[in-house]
This record gives sequence, C-alpha cells and structure tokens, in this order.
Amino acid sequence: MVAVTLPPPHNPANCPVKPVKVFSSLVAATTLLGVSDFDVLVLGSGPGGQKAAIAAAKLERRVAIVERRNMIGGVCINTGTIPSKTMREAVLYLTGLSQREMYGRNYRVKEEIGIADLTARTTHVVGREVEVIRNQLSRNRITTLTGSGQFLDPHTIAVIDDRGRETKVTADKIIVATGTRPARPDSVEFDGSTIIDSDGILQLDHVPDSMVVVGAGVIGIEYASMFAALGTKVTVVERRDRMLEFCDLEVIEALKYHLRDLAVTFRFGETVAAVERHERGALTILESGKKIPAATVMYSAGRQGMTESLALHTAGLEADARGRITVDEHYRTAVPHIYAVGDVIGFPALAATSMEQGRLAAYHACDEPVSDMSRLQPIGIYTIPEISFVGATEDELTDAHVPFETGLSRYRELARGQIIGDTHGMLKLLVSPEDRTLLGVHVFGTQATELVHIGQAVMGCGGTIDYLVDAVFNYPTLSECYKVAALDAMNKLRRVQRFSH
Ligand SMILES: Cc1cc2nc3c(=O)[nH]c(=O)nc-3n(C[C@H](O)[C@H](O)[C@H](O)COP(=O)(O)OP(=O)(O)OC[C@H]3O[C@@H](n4cnc5c(N)ncnc54)[C@H](O)[C@@H]3O)c2cc1C
Repeated sequence: MVAVTLPPPHNPANCPVKPVKVFSSLVAATTLLGVSDFDVLVLGSGPGGQKAAIAAAKLERRVAIVERRNMIGGVCINTGTIPSKTMREAVLYLTGLSQREMYGRNYRVKEEIGIADLTARTTHVVGREVEVIRNQLSRNRITTLTGSGQFLDPHTIAVIDDRGRETKVTADKIIVATGTRPARPDSVEFDGSTIIDSDGILQLDHVPDSMVVVGAGVIGIEYASMFAALGTKVTVVERRDRMLEFCDLEVIEALKYHLRDLAVTFRFGETVAAVERHERGALTILESGKKIPAATVMYSAGRQGMTESLALHTAGLEADARGRITVDEHYRTAVPHIYAVGDVIGFPALAATSMEQGRLAAYHACDEPVSDMSRLQPIGIYTIPEISFVGATEDELTDAHVPFETGLSRYRELARGQIIGDTHGMLKLLVSPEDRTLLGVHVFGTQATELVHIGQAVMGCGGTIDYLVDAVFNYPTLSECYKVAALDAMNKLRRVQRFSH
C-alpha cells in the first residue's frame, strides 16, 4: 500500500470551504501516484455509515465519509430515532403520565405544554450527539467530505457541495449507507404545517388539538401515542386490519387498550381517499365515505431509499421501486467492491441493525474475519407504553407447528411495579417444552426495551428457564419478572408432565 498523507481532521461546520481545497491537493497527489484516494469511502453518516467508517479506520484503512451539510449522524440523530425518543421522554416527564397511578388522573408536571418545551430538549440532545459523532470521526482520523455523493464510475464519487462545486474522489471499496426519507404519496399536498410527514413533526410550531395519523407502522404509532399523551385527539387510519403484526398479539391488544384510554380512535381496514386542506386544518376523507376533521394530518406511509441522486447506473447498480439496494449476506451489492448497509437495504431498518451491518460490511471490505449477524435481533417500539421482543411470536411458532409453553409475569405483582406505579406492564416467555430453552421474550411496559436484553442474553447463550428460576435478582426490580415468568412456565410444564405420567 502506498502511504498518503491524510488531511488533518477538520470541522466542516466551522469551515465549509477549506476541506474541499485541502482535499483537492490530496486527490491530485494520489491520482498522480495511481492509487485510490481512500481505501474505504462511506456515503452517509447515519448509524450504518458511522460504524462502517470507524470499523475500517480501526483496521488502519484510509477512510472518508461523505455527508450533506447539517446531517452528521444521519436521519437517526437529526430527524428520526434521537429526536423522537427525546421528545417521548419530554412528553412522559412533562405530562406526568407515568405518575398518574400514584397522584391521580389529573397529575401534570406542567399545565400548558407547548412545542418549545419539547423542542428545547430535543435540540439539546441532538446537538450533543452530533458533537459526539464529529469527535469520534475526527479521533479516528476519518476525513469528512461535506456534500452529496454521486457515482461517476464504480470507483469514483463526485462530492457536490451546497454551492454546486464538485470534488472527485476515488476509493477501493465504497459503502453506501444513504438511508431513507419519508415516502410521500403524489396525491397528497404536503405543506409542512397542516399536512406533514414524520420529519414535519419536528417543525410543528404548536401542539395540535387533533391529529390524523395515516399508517399504523412503528413511526406512526410512536408519534400517535406521544401526541395522545399530550392531550391531542388522535385518529389512526390503517389500511390493514391489524397493526404491528410482527409483534405479539396479546401485547398489541394491550397497547390498543392503552391508546384508546388516551382517546385514540382506530380506523382499521380503511384507506384514505383524499386529504383536503381548509383554513382550520385538514379533512381526511376515507374511501368508506367517513370524514375526519383535524388540525394536523401526519402521513407515515413507509420510507423511500435515498438512492435517486446516487446515479447508481454509472456504477453498474440499480435500486428497486422503493429505492432499496439488494445485497448478499456480506452486504455486497451486485458490484462486489460496493457494499450497502442500513435502511437503504430495507428490513429491519433500525438504527441498531444498521450499526451492526456497517461494522460487518467494513470488516468484510477490509478482509477481516467476520461472523454473521446474530440471528437474535431485538425489536424495540417506543410507544407509550413501550414494547420490546426478541425471538419468535406465538403466531410464528404455531404456524411452524413448534410446541411452546408460556410463562407470564405482571408488573403489578412485583414490588418495583407498585413503586413506579406501572401496574399494566407484563413479560411473557415462550418456552420449549422439550428442553426448556427460550423461544421468545415479549415485554410490554416501563423499561421493556432494556429488560428484553436479559432474555436476549439467555437465548443467545442457549440458556433455559432453569437458569432464570435459580437466578437471584436484585429486589425490588422489574428484572424479577424473568424469575416469576420462568416459575410460571415451569409450573405449567410440570402440570403437563404430571398428566402424561
Ligand atoms: C421517526 C423515526 C423514529 C425512529 N426510531 C427508531 C428507534 O427508536 N430505534 C431504532 O433502532 N431505529 C429507529 N428509527 C430508524 C433509524 O433512524 C434508522 O434505522 C437509521 O437511522 C438508519 O441508519 P442508516 O445508517 O441507514 O442511515 P440514516 O440514519 O438514514 O442516514 C443516512 C444519511 O445518508 C445521507 N445521505 C443520503 N444521500 C446521500 C448522498 N448522496 N451523499 C451523502 N450522504 C447522503 C443522509 O443525509 C443521511 O444523513 C427511526 C426512524 C424514524 C424516521
């Protein structure tokens, strides 16, 4: 490998012009030497791109990451995961919702909650997170190129900055991690204030008194529950008869019960025919003829891969109708030195999985031994209350004719559940009657997304409920629900055994 002096780490936010100039000399030098400018070039700095770049840098490769202005950290930090989860935390705190069991239904930390109360917290957290990421990139001597990347050929990318200036860079390996944007049906006139997509939530200038959420996917339901908690009258319209059908049915029933309790109306099996904008809001007209007036309509109708501006064809690649790129088990595209990771490759489109895909792709690109992505992917849904699971659902096991027993624990039976005032939470274990291993773990309620990892660890190590029955948990904790649920499953299995002997 020919040694090339790396440009010093820089902060493009403070210095928008200089990096291009400094970089041009590097490009010229490397071009003369006949080597690529970088060993690995990453397009997009979301969780997938970040982890790919850092993994390659740790393997001592010359790495660059291309990102648009003000988007360091990707959708995850700027418009998706982090702002939405911070907003949720602000909602939970300010509404006092989780304390009402103790202090009464009217308990609130703040009487009038305005949008500024929510955005103050999100702006603070997003700012800090961006700093952390910038720091990590520069600490690892990763060159940040500010602009939009576009393929010129399979090894060359044009980085086009805000002023339209173009810098060409070459790389041996390229990792596409350009993520997604909200899909917008052509028939709907989005205006950023009355009719919005999920990005528009962060730009609202007030908390609407009523809202129609079109699409009961994860993002739609998360925002529906946040606004319902704030007191907005929410109507969810969903074309399918169910929502979040990949989750445990019992858990989703519990979620629906809670959301209805927060005055959410569900319209399942209904399709939006038109959305009309009026002075006082918008009228959502359903194909069934129903009309729903609301101050705001939020479309959450899936996401579209950010591939239009990549000129993929110049690299010998193409995306599907939803802008997604197909990859093999090593995240290689049809052109073997070009990889793709994160939301741009589709399901499961989560920050957690994107990070891991990024790391694995970078290892493979750098010829580092690499294992497959773990089969056990936890799913976390930050509704109010939250949901998390790992492994199979009851429906999946039944469809596959895999016998199972359930073990259930309810938070209200735990001292910690009473202390925190969460009496509706629950944990369900799905257990194999043959060897007592865990087949699935489903949690609903406070800290569900944290608790699930105990089950994940046990499952990952091939553990059985015997371990959970014998383990001593701190008291009083929510983790104790593992022991209670394991005992419940054990008792049920014993009963079956007694019958058959
Ligand atoms: C509202 C919302 C809530 C979410 N909540 C969660 C959650 O709770 N948990 C979870 O795990 N996931 C959540 N997600 C999903 C999560 O945000 C994504 O899975 C994750 O961000 C995907 O990471 P990524 O690396 O694919 O890229 P992204 O985060 O999508 O970032 C891609 C980056 O690529 C850049 N880019 C695009 N085109 C180019 C180009 N041509 N040149 C240079 N750069 C380009 C973009 O500017 C962007 O910054 C949520 C998403 C949304 C929208």
